[in-house]
Amino acid sequence: MKELRVLLLGGTTEARQLAGLLVADGHTVISSLAGRTSDPLRPAGEMRVGGFGGVDGLAGYLRDERIDVLVDATHPFAATITRHAVEASRASGVPRMVVRRPGWTAAPGDEWHRVASLAEAAAQLPARGRRVFLTTGRQEIAAFAAVDECWFLARSVEPPTGPAPRCLSVVLNRGPFTVEGERQLMTGHRIDVLVTKDSGGPDAKLAAARSLRIPVLMVDRPPAPPGTILTSPGEALAALRRLSHRYA
Ligand code: NAP
Repeated sequence: MKELRVLLLGGTTEARQLAGLLVADGHTVISSLAGRTSDPLRPAGEMRVGGFGGVDGLAGYLRDERIDVLVDATHPFAATITRHAVEASRASGVPRMVVRRPGWTAAPGDEWHRVASLAEAAAQLPARGRRVFLTTGRQEIAAFAAVDECWFLARSVEPPTGPAPRCLSVVLNRGPFTVEGERQLMTGHRIDVLVTKDSGGPDAKLAAARSLRIPVLMVDRPPAPPGTILTSPGEALAALRRLSHRYA
């Protein structure tokens, strides 16, 4: 088995878990974060923070750091860095892998309305509800800035900046969340519609919305990048082990 030098594009729970697995397996892992969060949870191994400066910057980094494999374990909605990863891998010849948790699927009792974008979600308000729980992330709140007829509860890790709706209350929390906690939050604020991106992963808010019969505006994911999609850190570890045996 060859010890791999892995550049792991992260910012997700799965990326952090994979970093731990790879370091324990004896590989060198450089986790890359965009720098959106001022106090990120530290992954095992090395960490770098900040953009690369586009495709050329990323391709240059892959060559300069003698990276054996680029792992894109970014959030399913981080479409720009994912596109850059595809192009930088092609330009540098460094192989690329993608790790993405599966999206959510509706269960009996759910009332989901799938929309293609945050703008489309905003356009469906106030028809779908007037007291809105927004869990889309602080950078997406601007999409709802012009919706004056609704009251918003937004949850994010850090306070939102930039344009925001007139009636906005913010709750800062990183999770994990429980179904009962989500139920209390939603009933306490008399929420009548939930807006979320189809991020996948823990789904306490969706279970709570189902039990409270609250409709959900579910923003669809951007198209997946080309190539095989590995759906968990364990699957990614197995694929990287196969690669390291091939390189040995
Ligand atoms: P994005 O729009 O796809 O990327 C914008 C730019 O940010 C990229 O061109 C790149 O700059 C830089 N960048 C993004 N991810 C990076 C990374 N992991 N390491 C180094 N630079 C990175 O990204 P985003 O949607 O703002 O997401 C930023 C980060 O937050 C990602 O790591 C993602 O996994 C995480 N995250 C995103 C969401 C979401 O809903 N979008 C949710 C949770 C976590 P350069 O062109 O200069 O290289």
